[in-house]
Amino acid sequence: MHILVLNAGSSSIKAAVVEAGTGERVFELGADRLLDRGGHRSALHPFLLELKDKVSGLNIEGIGHRVVHGGAAFDGATRITDGVEQQIEALSDLAPLHNPVNLAGIRLARELWPDLPQFAVFDTAFHHSLPKRAQTYALPKDLMREHGIRRYGFHGMSHKYVAGRAATFLKDDYRNLRIISCHLGNGCSVTAIEFGRSIETSMGMTPLEGLVMGTRSGDIDPGIPAYLQRKTGMDTAAIDALLNRDSGLKGLSGAGNDMRSILERSAEGDPDCQLAVQVYTHRLRKYIGAYAAVMGGVDAIVFTGGIGENSSVIRHRAAQRLDYLGAIIDEDLNNTLALTDTEDVISFSRSHSRVKLLAIRTDEQLAIARDCAKLLRHEDEVNTLPTIPIAISARHCHLTRATLDKLYGEGHELTVKKYLSQPGQFAAEETVTVVGPRNRIERVRILGPLRSADQVEISRTDEFFLGIDAPVRESGKVENTPGCQLLGPAGSADLEDGVICAWRHIHMTPEDAAQFGVQDRDVVEVAIGTSDRGLTFGNVLIRVSPDYKLEMHIDTDEGNAAEIQSGDSGVLNVTASEGQLRRRATVG
Ligand code: AMP
Repeated sequence: MHILVLNAGSSSIKAAVVEAGTGERVFELGADRLLDRGGHRSALHPFLLELKDKVSGLNIEGIGHRVVHGGAAFDGATRITDGVEQQIEALSDLAPLHNPVNLAGIRLARELWPDLPQFAVFDTAFHHSLPKRAQTYALPKDLMREHGIRRYGFHGMSHKYVAGRAATFLKDDYRNLRIISCHLGNGCSVTAIEFGRSIETSMGMTPLEGLVMGTRSGDIDPGIPAYLQRKTGMDTAAIDALLNRDSGLKGLSGAGNDMRSILERSAEGDPDCQLAVQVYTHRLRKYIGAYAAVMGGVDAIVFTGGIGENSSVIRHRAAQRLDYLGAIIDEDLNNTLALTDTEDVISFSRSHSRVKLLAIRTDEQLAIARDCAKLLRHEDEVNTLPTIPIAISARHCHLTRATLDKLYGEGHELTVKKYLSQPGQFAAEETVTVVGPRNRIERVRILGPLRSADQVEISRTDEFFLGIDAPVRESGKVENTPGCQLLGPAGSADLEDGVICAWRHIHMTPEDAAQFGVQDRDVVEVAIGTSDRGLTFGNVLIRVSPDYKLEMHIDTDEGNAAEIQSGDSGVLNVTASEGQLRRRATVG
């Protein structure tokens, strides 16, 4: 399937016709932007006319537009309608340098190719999974809500793409891996991808936060702009320009923003360039360490973007002495590696290194083309979907034989109190007391049958009550989770790990999954929209097994927040994270 991918940026415009299956470029055209005296539209117009002429013989099935800011509204690629255009326009406040020019490209392309389906693919979408704690600045909450101030993250297509390539290379599912991906190009960002989801990223509300970049400062003391204003009389626009266009490597080195020449000058002894390289890599190492801490470990660290793919010096400075994390660099491999079209992933860690160090060629155009192709393939399917019942699951635990022995005595067998909707599962008569550092919760139900690992599933409120910081996890993923103490009538058991906040999920059979067009471990969105109060649950995990019965599980906090009761009904939108399928069905 041929997709025309358009990236109308503030300083250049690029177009490519991409075969979405193979990634082959059938046609490419690029131009530096002319000064847009007449506005973005007149600057882009000649380019797009030329493009239209040149691709007229190609069988293009859709157009994918790169859009920088999707705000809170867009968690995935979407088909462009007049409404979507308006939403992108409304987001221009958040990205004044980027969204207006992206939008001008969209409007022109819709005029020039009125019959082709067009899609917007957002830099921010992949980071929709950032947990609240990573999204939120410590500013007054009402002010943030009013103005949409929060961390959104960028470079999402690249981070998602290289995480996928890393997993394929490591012959694993990326949803089993913790990946730190470093996109080091003209713009730079690092992302912590935990089991397939972006959970922390260095760019924030705008692409200015985080790493040192070509011309952007990255993190600075937020007191500096006000200080500069007072001391120099610079106005807001001048400070904005300073931080976006004259800082970073360019500002530090005084030798432009090209890492190649900065490295050359450093080697010749230029102290400013040397310091630029040191500040750049120091900041990067700091983020890598921080993200390993956030995820409680890491399986692969990926270097991509013009600098990450090509500079052995920067990779060496960033990745040496990471032995404490389990990442051991092979300096020879790092020095000699050369990425090509056919060898687009190369490992440069030692063979015994537990953490893999990978250089990966990123391909944002292909990522865009794939998202569009997926949407095109699925959107015509008829939706006759089954209804999905919702169940609210109270706090509970799953225990091992050994733990049950400690709590209830050797060889104790659980007594069935009630069979649950999932075949074979039951709530036992037996309960335990869960003890945290702050408080204890009594009569927490044990669910049977026994399992191979202990797991205590609590709500966010329970977590704060107990004094335990538990991550949101799918059932069974208890690595690097906190423990607790359990008390039973025959004794106590100290769990080293196993306390989680259950990730809201939908159980379904393979037949259901085929019908919904989703796969096991897809992450979807569920909108429970009754007439008077609509509510959307993002980040809903799909679990597929022939043994399951179709049902969505949320915890008591979520049930309370949504005022959901048994028998409620509404509308369900399933938005698969990969390919963003939008579907509707009734839940009840
Ligand atoms: P990108 O935005 O991904 O195209 O990356 C652009 C950046 O990559 C520029 O700062 C280039 O100087 C840098 N770059 C490209 N090739 C090399 C190289 N061989 N060594 C160091 N930096 C490089």
